[in-house]
Amino acid sequence: MERSNEHAYKDIIAKKRERNDMKKTIFCDIDGTIFEYRKFETFRTTPAVMTPGALEKLKQWEAEGHMIVLTTARPERMRSHTAKELSENSVPWHKLIMGIGFGDRHLINDMAPNKNINRATAHNLSRDQGFECIEI
Ligand SMILES: [Mg+2]
Repeated sequence: MERSNEHAYKDIIAKKRERNDMKKTIFCDIDGTIFEYRKFETFRTTPAVMTPGALEKLKQWEAEGHMIVLTTARPERMRSHTAKELSENSVPWHKLIMGIGFGDRHLINDMAPNKNINRATAHNLSRDQGFECIEI
């Protein structure tokens, strides 16, 4: 990138950061978070039910241009079934990461130099609580 263009780009990014209108990446669990929790062995025999406010918030974030990355411990072999459930419930998503561990999840990100502004946030929800309390 040419030096003047690089400076212009950095100015644009800095202004967007100040206005908090940078496009965000939302990493979101599925079961117990977007869908009411159910055991793996019942996925094919029970319907997926949305938690309160989840669909509205996900659609809002998609409309605002944020990237939605779904993460789930569901095994890779359930990808097509999972995509079908998401589609049937009109859940918007951009990437679907399957087969992650059952343990705690941590999000790691750097902060801009000389600015003490967190660029990684976690929202811990009670199981099936839904998204009504989440503001990003
Ligand atoms: Mg879960």
